[in-house]
Amino acid sequence: MMFALCAGAVEVAVDVGHYAAEPGVISASGKPEFEYNLALALDVKVELEKLQMQVRLIGEKGDYAVLRHRTRDAAGADLFLSIHHDSVKERLLPRADEFAGYSLFVSRNNPRQQKSLACASRIGKAMKESGFIPSRYHADPVLGESRPFADEANGVHYYDNLAVGRSASMPSVLVEAGVIVNREEEDRMRDPAVRRRIAAAVAAGVHACLGGGS
Ligand SMILES: [Zn+2]
Repeated sequence: MMFALCAGAVEVAVDVGHYAAEPGVISASGKPEFEYNLALALDVKVELEKLQMQVRLIGEKGDYAVLRHRTRDAAGADLFLSIHHDSVKERLLPRADEFAGYSLFVSRNNPRQQKSLACASRIGKAMKESGFIPSRYHADPVLGESRPFADEANGVHYYDNLAVGRSASMPSVLVEAGVIVNREEEDRMRDPAVRRRIAAAVAAGVHACLGGGS
């Protein structure tokens, strides 16, 4: 029934986390997170388009300082997908090499909370099937922020006040692709072949969630 009401192709708003003036985490080698987010978002765009989905890039020019403008400018898209790379708490930076893996976040304040979770779970499942490992430390009360798991097996957490989750009118998922304050993980994230595998997994998960199939 739903598909009969939806004219045209599925559209995904791919949001490049952070912006030029505040480029996010600084990686182990001193690079701003925004560079990583942009490179991965462009690969995700390619992979989504291969699966016949339309893509609207948000923030790729590095000029979106106001978070709610991102979700506003995504109006009409079927999914808001925010691309980030992860860090750890400042006091844990000396131990950053101990932290690795991807994390996914959804907000229970999003009006499409169940669809958000379904998409995040599919993305996490596809990441695992591609050999990536979900990070556990965001859920840890000491090392992380006690973020409750929404789907522990697939690395999905609830982050209810997440601005891009809360302010989106469509389902919304935030992806932390890997921990770039970890030296080895940063090297992996910088490898174009690894980046393409992440992008393909993200796109496959989105397709499984939005693009038909079970
Ligand atoms: Zn970020």
